Parts: sequence; C-alpha cells; structure tokens
Amino acid sequence: MIHMAKLLSDKEQKKAFKKIAEENPGKYYPITVLKQKGFIRKHCINCKKYFWTAVHTKETCGEPECNDGFTVVNNNPKKNHLSFIQVWKKIVEILEPRGYVPIKRYPVVARWNPTTEFTIASIAAFQPYVVSGEVPPPAKKLLIPQFCLRFGDIENVGITGSHCTGFVMIGQHQFVSPEEWDQDQAFRDIYDFLVDGVGLANTEFVIHEDAWAGAGCFGPCMEFFSRGVELFNQVYTLFQQTPEGPIGLNLKVLDMGLGMERVAWFSQGTPNIYEAIFPLVLQRIRERTKVELDYTLYNRFSQFSAFLNIDEVEDMNEAWARVGRELNIDPITLKEKIVPMTAVYSIAEHSRSLLFAITDGKLPSNVGGGYNLRVIFRRAISFIDQFNWDIDMGEVCEWHAEELFEIFPEISESLNEVKAILEIEKQKYYATKKEAEKIVKKLVKKEDITEEKLIELYDSNGINPELIKAAAAKLGKKIKIPDDFYGKVIARHEKIVQVHATNKKIDIDLTNIPDTKKLYFTDYSKTENSAKVLKIQKITHEIEDEEAEGEQMLKITAWAIVLDSSIAYPTSGGQLHDNGWINTIKFIDVIKLGGITIHILDQEPDFKEGDTVTLKIDRDRRKLLTQHHTATHIVNAAARKILGNHINQAGAKKTLEKAHLDITHYDSLTDEQVNQIEQVANELVSREIQSNIRFMERSEAESKYGMSLYQGGAVPGVSLRVVEIPDIDIEACGGTHVNNTREIGQIKIIKSQKIQDGIVRLTYTAGNATKALFEKNEKIKKKLSQILEVSPDELVARSQELLEKWRMLRKAMSTGDYSEYMTTLTIKEKDPDQSLHVLSRFFEISTDMLIGKIQKLKEEWETMRKEIQQIAIVVGEKNVEYLVENAKEVHNVKFIAAIYPNMDNKVLSNLGKALLKKVNSGLIFLIGSSPKGVNFIVMRGEKIKEYNLSKISKQFLQKVNGKGGGKPDSAQGFIQNYKEEPEKLFEIFQKLVFSSIELNK
Ligand SMILES: [Zn+2]
Ligand SMILES: [Zn+2]
Repeated sequence: MIHMAKLLSDKEQKKAFKKIAEENPGKYYPITVLKQKGFIRKHCINCKKYFWTAVHTKETCGEPECNDGFTVVNNNPKKNHLSFIQVWKKIVEILEPRGYVPIKRYPVVARWNPTTEFTIASIAAFQPYVVSGEVPPPAKKLLIPQFCLRFGDIENVGITGSHCTGFVMIGQHQFVSPEEWDQDQAFRDIYDFLVDGVGLANTEFVIHEDAWAGAGCFGPCMEFFSRGVELFNQVYTLFQQTPEGPIGLNLKVLDMGLGMERVAWFSQGTPNIYEAIFPLVLQRIRERTKVELDYTLYNRFSQFSAFLNIDEVEDMNEAWARVGRELNIDPITLKEKIVPMTAVYSIAEHSRSLLFAITDGKLPSNVGGGYNLRVIFRRAISFIDQFNWDIDMGEVCEWHAEELFEIFPEISESLNEVKAILEIEKQKYYATKKEAEKIVKKLVKKEDITEEKLIELYDSNGINPELIKAAAAKLGKKIKIPDDFYGKVIARHEKIVQVHATNKKIDIDLTNIPDTKKLYFTDYSKTENSAKVLKIQKITHEIEDEEAEGEQMLKITAWAIVLDSSIAYPTSGGQLHDNGWINTIKFIDVIKLGGITIHILDQEPDFKEGDTVTLKIDRDRRKLLTQHHTATHIVNAAARKILGNHINQAGAKKTLEKAHLDITHYDSLTDEQVNQIEQVANELVSREIQSNIRFMERSEAESKYGMSLYQGGAVPGVSLRVVEIPDIDIEACGGTHVNNTREIGQIKIIKSQKIQDGIVRLTYTAGNATKALFEKNEKIKKKLSQILEVSPDELVARSQELLEKWRMLRKAMSTGDYSEYMTTLTIKEKDPDQSLHVLSRFFEISTDMLIGKIQKLKEEWETMRKEIQQIAIVVGEKNVEYLVENAKEVHNVKFIAAIYPNMDNKVLSNLGKALLKKVNSGLIFLIGSSPKGVNFIVMRGEKIKEYNLSKISKQFLQKVNGKGGGKPDSAQGFIQNYKEEPEKLFEIFQKLVFSSIELNK
C-alpha cells in the first residue's frame, strides 16, 4: 500500500505519485515488456525525467525542449504508409483478436456528459458513469474511433502543419476488475500496433515514465514520443484518494487516446498532417483554386510559423518580414505563396469539424460552443472571400463525407441539412461584413472603438469583433479585442434553463432514510397511494409564487415529510411538482433530494413518524402537467420533422397554463413553419399511439437509441427511464407522461420567438389548457366584438380601422381640422385567420391584454369624436372673426378674452395664433375650464412688444395661486381647484397688464 498525505489536489497527487513510482518502476510500469523489446531506462540529462529508449546512446528524453525540436518532416523514413482510414482498420486488425471490441463513435456534442459541451477525448464518451463504475461499459475491452473537437488553437490551423480543431482520437480502453487487469498486456497491445501496425521502428520513439491524476483518481502512465511529438499517452487509472489515504480502485480503467491524424501522418511521412488525412478533399479544392503547392517552401515555413502567432505578434508585417529573413525570401513573395496554401488547409480542416458538429446537433451561433463553430466557419470563408475562390463550404463537407464514408457513413445522412445551415451562415457572414464596414467607417471618424462598444456591436448588431478589427485595419486603425471578450458577452446573455429542477436547499437530516419508491413512474393516472411516514421535520421553506411573473419567492414555516413511497411528482426535468394532500393536510411543494422525495406541508401534520397515511394528488393539476410534458416530446418530434435533424431540445418548461420548448434552429420561424409544426404535432396526437415507458440499462438504451436520448440533458444513474412514443420520439425522461397520445388533446402553438442566436422558443398549450385557452379566447372575441360593434370574425380589420382613426383624431385635436371619415367606423371584413394571434401581434401585446387596450382606444376615440366638433367650432373661422370684432381696445392694445369648457392649451394656443394673424396689436387671454380647475394661455402680437408676458404671468400666477410660466410673447398656466367665476381672472390679469404699462411709463 502507498502512504501519502490525505486528499491532495490533482496536481499534488500527480507529483507525489510520480515520485513513488520513480523509486519503484518495476511495480508501476510495464518494464518487463520494455526490457524484452530492447529498451533501457535513462535519465534525461536535461530535464531529469526517466525515459525508456532502444537507442542506448541517447541522453535526452525527446521532448522538444530537450531535443532538436520538431522534426517529423525531415528524413522521415517511410513506414507502412497507412491512409487515414487504414489506421483505424489496422488497430482493429491487431487488437480485435486480442479481445478488444470495436464500437461506433459517440456524437461530438456530449449530451450525456454534464461536464463538457463537446467530446474532447475518447474517454469522454464513458464519463462520468462508466468510468465511475455506476454503469457497465459497452465492452470491457474496446476500441473507439472518437471524433473530438478542441478550439484552443484555431489560429494555428493550416499554419503550423500539425494543428486541427477536429480529430479522431482512437481510444484503447479497458474497464475491468483488479483480477482481470493486465497492465503488461495492455502496454504490449499498443506497442505492437505502433511497431507492427504503423511500421515505426522502435528506435524511432522513446517512452516517458509519468503519472496522471484527475477527479480524485490517479495512476502511472507511459507517454510515447517520436521526433519531438507526443504520439499518445497510455494511462493506467488504478488508485483513488480517500480521507483515509489512497486505495486501489475496484474498476481499473485503461485510458489510451491516440490521434489517428498523427499516426496517419507518421506512417505516410507526408509534409504535413493535412496531406495525410484528407488527400481527396485537398485535391478537389486545388482543382478549383489552382493553388500551386510548394512543399519545400511550406515545410521550411512551418518551422518558423510560430513567429506569426497573432495572439503574440504586435506588427504582422514585421512578423512576415522576420520569417522572410529566416527563409531568405522577400516577405511579399513569401506571403503570396504561403497564405493560399494555408488557406486551402484551413478550409478543408474547418469544414470537416463543422460537418461533424452540425451532423451531431450543434449549430453555429453567438453562444457557447456554437460560437466556436461560427468562428471556424468565418475563418474559412474569409479565405474564400479574400481570394475570390469558387468554393462552397457545403460542397467541401460533401467531399469529406465521401472520403470518410467507409468509417463514418452516418455523416452522409444529414448532408443536405448541413449544406442548408452553412448556406445561411454564409449569408449571415456577408451581411454582417457589409454592415461592419459601414459602421466602422462611421465610428472611426468619431470615436475610439472601446471594449464596451465592441460588446454592444456584437450584442445588438451581431458583428463579431474580428470583423470590426479587419474593417478598422483597412482604414489604418488598430483595435484590441480583450482576451475574455466572449466570456463577457456570454455573461450578459439570458441563460437557457435546461432542467427546471429546484435548487432549494432544505435543512433536513436524511441519515438512514432509504430512497423513496416513486410510484408516478408507472402510471400517471394513478393519483392515490398509502405509505409509511419515515420522517417529519419542521423547516423554513421557500416557495415560488406561481401567480407572480418571474421568480418571486415566499418564505414560510413548513413541515418536510418523507414517505417510503409516493405518487407525487417532485419538480424536475422542467416539469412542475404536484400538489395534494397527506391524509387531510395539504402539501404545497414536492422536492427531490437524491433519490428521496420530500413533501412540504404548510400546516402542522396530524400524523407522526411510523404512521401509515394516505397520499392524494390534485388530479387536474397532474393531468395538465402530464399533457404538457408529453406534448413537449411531440412538439420536439414535429419540429424535427418540419425543420430537420438539427433540431434538438435546448431547454423546456411545463406549467399548468402552458409549456415551452427551446429548440436549436438557425433562424426565426415563419408563420407557415409554425402552422406546419402544429399540424404535424396534432396529427401525431390523433394517431392514438400507445406510449412505451420502461427502465433500461443505460448502455443498452444508448446503443439501441443513440445519444439523442438525452434531449433533456444528461441524466444520472445506471438505468434510464426511457419514454418512447413509438416511431416518433425516444427520450430518457423522468417526467409523467400520457399512456396514449390521444390523451394529450389538442396542441396549440401560441408563440414562436427567437430568444437567442440559434435558439427558438415555441410556447404552446395542450389538452385541457388548450380548451381553457380556446374558451378564454372565445370570451375575449365576444367582448371585443361588443366593443368594436362587429361580429367576432371581423375583429382585425375593425381594430386596425379604430387605431388608424384614433391616431388621426388625436392629431386633429389641436387644430380642429377633422373630417367625418375620422369620426365613423365603417369597415367590416372577415378575418382570414380566425385567431387572436393577428391582433396580438398587431398591437404587440398578449391576447390577455387585448380587451383592455382596445376598450381604452375605443373610449378615447369616442371622447375625441365628441370634443373635436367643439374644437372645430372654437378654432373655426367664424369664431375667430367674432372674437376679433368684439375685441376691447385700451391703450392701443386690442384685448381679446374668452372662456371655453374642456379645452386644453394646445387648442387654445392654435386659436390664439389664428387671432394674432388678424390683429398684430392683440393681447389674447384664453381660458379652458374643467372640473379640475382652469388652464389658460396669454399671447401678444408683434406690435406690442413692450408687454413682457413672462413677467406679467408670473405676478398673475402668484396672485391666483397657479402654476405655469412662459416667454415674453406667450405664457401659460394652470390653476387647480379654481372655484370662482373665471371672468374674475380677466379682471385680475387686465389690472396687472395696465399696471405694467404704468410702471413702464
Ligand atoms: Zn528531457
Ligand atoms: Zn421529457
């Protein structure tokens, strides 16, 4: 047994174990085999690492720093010349007879693995549950050609000659008991593949002793190096850390992941990795682009390509000049020759990654992993754009599918969709590029483009900073993109909730409480069970206020109850919990903690631990939630049928009133698409399909149905609850579901909205909720038809007419200039679409708010209709003439005063203007009176500038206790609750005017 400090970090653990293993290599490394094969143990004179070599004079370990760097392409002896696909066939040929089962690759979108978005290594296919021992592996010893994606080095692809964003990691894995574990043989298996299969002489590689640690487990490992390149690392995960110190694992895991691209490259000795892995695609691209190949130059160039790492280089031109000096070529010629070559490689490489990612269900977008896909797409297309090549990325994908058909036939299946998605991506690229240039041109003149501005442009215009950088560079401006740019953007975005599970923490002691028997798994329509009370505890509990919009929480005193079995559904998988009663006491929340269901009572229970009780749930609530949940599976399937195989669930929520499903799609949906999805969904419902719900071994379910099982995200546990609607949908799901699709009732999609780049939210009702919705809508229609005085199927045109005339009248209210057209509603037209949807979109409000909105419009329109006639009279020619004729002339001033009921200052001011056109020595005082008080305006003509109305009205307002103000030639105000005769105000004002003349004299 090994003795070490307790619970170290992975890094500390690795270091500590490496020391132990170094001192006793015979115990931890397969040295018997190594010696047999003619290897001896050496100590690197440079880095002091222990390594094994067949070249007995060798003193350095072969790491690039300790050796002469990277020398794959120099004097590389020809090996067995394996093509890319032959590498896989060869390892199968050698290892299959030794008991390794070749299995199919897993998707690159790691739906089953909660720790990673993309599959980044072959072992990730078996994380976390196979590796942890919870779930049996597909085979104890296996081989897998796992396509992986890593986006850490995008800018180096095509340049260094060895970098890829997508690669096949061949996994040699074992998941066996300590008795079955044979480390020497595992080592011999991979060694034989390398020497006999690939044809690498044993003098061509060295093997390092090392250690590995991760997730609390650790073990020794052997790293294979050749010509400065790590070929692979064979890891033996044998031990586990515990508080009592390390112990041997019951499940020994062999983790060897070998880059298929690298092996093909070594075996063929091609000038770079790309030439070895997709020669057919490269040949076709070259036929189109006529790019000449100069391998010698490319090889010399790749040795210095690190100088062009754009993350580190300040001045790109200087960097090219530097490489040129090294190669003794002038930089312009160098660039002209090299850039097209690197472009060809990048286009080929990026297309391959996109092909796998899109096929497996990830779309280019602005968010998360989808963003990486957009970045590589744009990098590739900007090359095509720059050189004006006749190349289509979708077509390149087609070539890849053809070249890889023998090993990955599945990627040919969704080619048309991949092409359609890339076509849209292309259009987006050109559109944003154009916009970026326009915006940057404008911005560069005005201001510096700050980080804040970059984020804003990205968020609101969808222009990524690389395009802005490029556009600015054209204008001679340099822009710095912050390192964590996309992190900052993502932090701003709304999160999509995939699992609507409660994160509620409950302070409850569950020691020795067994998992609850969950009776809802078997039949959703059962609503009652009897059970034994295992635990009662008084707690403080937070409940979601379901009535309130948003996440309002209420804190209450409550009792947590655990039973040995329960029919009640706890909030999980996006489905809300049941409500119900234990005996006669109501429970208001149900929560899942591990395998235990906890019922929350808001009253003290009348039973005690050990009692047998009866649990009943609210049937109607359960039925609604169940209809909405199965409808969600159906809508998902219908959307996939209409929109394509790229549709996957990105999130979902099911409540009583409605449900929503977030789907992965690259564009907003058209009305037609939404209607089609609804139609297909209802067709599926009407087929009366019996659902098939059962528990299955995880590995069996995965191999039978594939990883698209995990629509609701990763699910823990050895066995999965598989919800199958035969021929339509299969998901691993813990929710309650109908037994027959007919029970879902009618599905009505009420809204479709793009909530994020690449994500569309469909909101819908099913069954009883749809009935309730229709009833409610009928009521709304009936009420609207009363308000609008048309029949319920003529609402749309009439509503539009009302809004139009309301607007016209409102405009006419200050001038009095109206026509009869505005004061009558005449349009009667049958609505082509009988739903309230059209109205709700027209007014941009929800259907619930339509009555309020339209009623208000109608009332306002009615009021204006009455008032406008009065206004027209007041502002009209006749009234103006009348007032002018009756003006009182005092001290060369024509004094005009009038009072009108319910007339606002806007109208009065228009009347004032009309009056002053006729009398330029006029002084106008107009009052509008209403129950609230009086408003007034004063104005004067051109000829009597000596009267300062701003001053006079100030004195006036003080006297009458009003509010207001103005300029020397006009002023206005309001006197609240003015109870006396308005005529009195004239007198007061007149006096003030005259006294101001006295003062001026
Ligand atoms: Zn070394
Ligand atoms: Zn589900």
